[in-house]
Amino acid sequence: MKTLIDKIKSKQIPAIVKKVAKSEGLDARELANDIKNGQTVICSNYKHAPSKPCAVGKNLKTKVNVNIGTSPDFTCLKNELNKLSISLEYGADAVMDLSTGGNLREIRRKIISKCPVSVGTVPIYEAAVLNAKKNIKIKDMKLDDIFSSIKRQAEDGVDFMTLHCGLTLETLSRLKQEGRLLNIVSRGGAFLTNWMIHNNKENPLYEHYDELLDILHDYDITISLGDGLRPGCIDDATDRAQIQELIFLGELAQRANKRGVQAIIEGPGHVPINEIKTNMQIQKKLCHGAPFYVLGPLVTDAAVGYDHIAASIGSAIAATYGADFICYLTPAEHLGLPSDEDVKEGLIASRIAAHAADVAKGNKSAIQRDKLLSQARKKRDFPKQFELALEPNKGKSKYKKLKAKKKDVCSMCSEFCAIKTIEEVLKK
Ligand code: SF4
Repeated sequence: MKTLIDKIKSKQIPAIVKKVAKSEGLDARELANDIKNGQTVICSNYKHAPSKPCAVGKNLKTKVNVNIGTSPDFTCLKNELNKLSISLEYGADAVMDLSTGGNLREIRRKIISKCPVSVGTVPIYEAAVLNAKKNIKIKDMKLDDIFSSIKRQAEDGVDFMTLHCGLTLETLSRLKQEGRLLNIVSRGGAFLTNWMIHNNKENPLYEHYDELLDILHDYDITISLGDGLRPGCIDDATDRAQIQELIFLGELAQRANKRGVQAIIEGPGHVPINEIKTNMQIQKKLCHGAPFYVLGPLVTDAAVGYDHIAASIGSAIAATYGADFICYLTPAEHLGLPSDEDVKEGLIASRIAAHAADVAKGNKSAIQRDKLLSQARKKRDFPKQFELALEPNKGKSKYKKLKAKKKDVCSMCSEFCAIKTIEEVLKK
């Protein structure tokens, strides 16, 4: 079967490319060229074929992913499906099912069947969970266990997969030599490191990368090259281990592109504000402009309970300087499995960050939205402001609750409304 890259290489412009180009206001030929060159991806496994596939990369609007999924302590499918509905209602561009509790395949299939946007997973979670159910430790996991999970998830229709292929013995030696405060905070990265150290063997996802690409190619799945060594605290940001892994990720993205498989690179983590721009520039440069998927980054470690805010500050800056895809964080980050409200709050914070970055990058529709909202604000047209807001409900209910006694102003300044005063004065 030909993948999107294969088709574009044989001079076709597939319908999905034309559809995305239209919705983004881009030229389809230019978009196809960016996909061919590995600078843009459209995440769509032909087994799922989402009606709103997530497209990330050059000249596109910044996209936001929501992580949902069970944990060993909270295994209820209904709860996760409710989080899926909330994610879709509040504008998620992609959803990752990170389930590690309950019947993983049933949960994944249900989420995919109900999801019009692209669905991502981290297949090594399933491999580890299935082995744990048989009392097999991660260090005793077989190559076939990992590849079976990847194949099963491909067959179920997963559109993009996080695979930590760049976490090699060499990157681990950098980690040990340099010394870190929090070492490894990525779950997938920790599983693989455990396996590699116990068995004294190379990462199987790196060693068998060509076989892995063959599977992804069969379904046209986008590989999201995971950063197993992403810094997990400000003190570990931009160290040699992170950059060493990034060099491998860039090379692996290039190999994927040659094989006709679309690739995204995953990024940090925790990064202080003053290092974000440099991180994005290094990442884009080393990975030849491949689409960048960032988790936050969190700009401080001290925002416990408010990590969605610390992350959205980092996301806005990262996306301004090159990140294309933002993974949301919730107020429950570092604390527990997010609730429905946490999902909503985290998603809205990330969408504000994405929009702010799009305005900074000169995206015409983002700039126009802000302009229309300001025009409505000038007219004190509150219903119009809610209509244009990134999330209308909170503003609407606050406005109603705090209603002014005077007409066409709000209760902040009421009869002293600056906008109204100046409007009247300038008429004279
Ligand atoms: S009352 Fe004050 S806050 Fe409200 S619209 Fe007028 S200027 Fe803005």
